[in-house]
Amino acid sequence: MYQSTRSSYVLSDVAAVLKGIAPDGGLFADASLPSRPFDAEGCMGLRYTEMAEKIMCHHLPGFAPKMKEIVSVYPKKFSSEKITPLVPAGDAYSLELYHGPTSAFKDVALSVLPLFITAARDAGGSDALVSILTATSGDTGKAALEGFHDVPGTEITVFFPDGGVSEMQRLQMVTQEGKNVHVFAVRGNFDDCQRGVKEAFALNSAGSLPGTQEKMLTSANSINIGRLVPQVVYYFSAYSQLIEQGALVFGEKADFVVPTGNFGDILAGYMAKLMGLPVGRLICASNANNVLYDFITTGVYDRRREFYKTASPSMDILVSSNLERLLFYASGGDTAAVSGYMKDLSENGFYNAGADLMERIRESFSAEFASEEECAEAIREAYFSRGMLIDTHTGVGFAATKKYMAKNPSSAPCVVLSTASPFKFPTAVLSALGEVPGDDDFENARRLAELSGVSVPENLAGLKEKHILHSSVISKEEIITCSACPGGQS
Ligand SMILES: *Cc1c(COP(=O)(O)O)cnc(C)c1O
Repeated sequence: MYQSTRSSYVLSDVAAVLKGIAPDGGLFADASLPSRPFDAEGCMGLRYTEMAEKIMCHHLPGFAPKMKEIVSVYPKKFSSEKITPLVPAGDAYSLELYHGPTSAFKDVALSVLPLFITAARDAGGSDALVSILTATSGDTGKAALEGFHDVPGTEITVFFPDGGVSEMQRLQMVTQEGKNVHVFAVRGNFDDCQRGVKEAFALNSAGSLPGTQEKMLTSANSINIGRLVPQVVYYFSAYSQLIEQGALVFGEKADFVVPTGNFGDILAGYMAKLMGLPVGRLICASNANNVLYDFITTGVYDRRREFYKTASPSMDILVSSNLERLLFYASGGDTAAVSGYMKDLSENGFYNAGADLMERIRESFSAEFASEEECAEAIREAYFSRGMLIDTHTGVGFAATKKYMAKNPSSAPCVVLSTASPFKFPTAVLSALGEVPGDDDFENARRLAELSGVSVPENLAGLKEKHILHSSVISKEEIITCSACPGGQS
């Protein structure tokens, strides 16, 4: 069963995936996860698809009869045999999560989410149109469009911050083909997009969003539990590959550094730990928008601060939704406390989690952040001392790793999640390498390929030939009407 983080409202796993967010604004969480036994060791050495089937059935048993079929999409959509290969990177390891169809880690979840959602709708005996609303800081939008375009019985609407994503990310979205897709640039930042979409859900739950009575609204953001569960799998896969590579034996701890924005990816690591995977520390890596670093170090979450546009736009977020799930688990399911924090956050712009809760959070989490210069330096160092080309988000991860290791010399293997292909951010990566980039992203990508000997992923190179199909720019206020009736606007 899945419970709201803000009340005793419960739904089955299948219904929770379909609903996306609880009517009280809370997120769905499985309160029994920490106590339900799971054979983590039994996952070691399995192929990715077999591992995925076991782990996802543990979280989403209602989909068990279809799970084998669902996970079979991975080898078809990912270009690496390991799906998420682990490669040594100096004194750490890099977990490459970007070998999917849109070159970012979001593909791991969004390759299977459409299958969960349509299966859930069919299981309910309904044939209502499923309308997927997605706020994106850059990568979720395209991965969701790729997963849902032309899926019968669905429509998908994406909101991205105008001027707040890389040129490659923008082109990936605005050139998206498909009869059921809608893409809007919003004059605002990611937080504005996320807030607008959450508001649309709240209005829809209250029955006061005109035009949506006939539809089922759901989310492709990591507020949907169906987005998080597939991400748990690659923590197991990384650990299994550490064993294969002789870095540890089962039971010894591994640390994970996670470039973080909405706190979904790192929360999946925490879920893996709750299932018995020997995870040591989860190190939350932030860019200059270091609200999570401040939270983990001080216990005060304060969104009242300047918003920076950085070279790692998918982490330019000040309100990290999934932190709510961590508060739920770390407080032992204290929904009254969680509701109180969230009320403080929306009304006053901050909350204080208190010493006891923070002690429990710090048992598993550490935090570091990187300035733009530190990120660029990490990209340079990866390239010139290890011959490894990394993207800007992963650059933040490696910069954080260096800081963490300097403070905590430990022998535990440290895995850095490599969240996107460097070719999604060719201008920033080229300039980090000391080159002078031009204005054209495709030319910059070509130069980056020439320099590194790594080829540009086909899905990105091919964008140059595509037509722009979505050019609407809307205000934050218009997110509500566009959510209700996307076709009327775009
Ligand atoms: C989404 C994203 C992140 C942040 O992940 P969260 O789950 O939002 O914390 C980091 N890097 C890249 C490349 C992303 O697309």
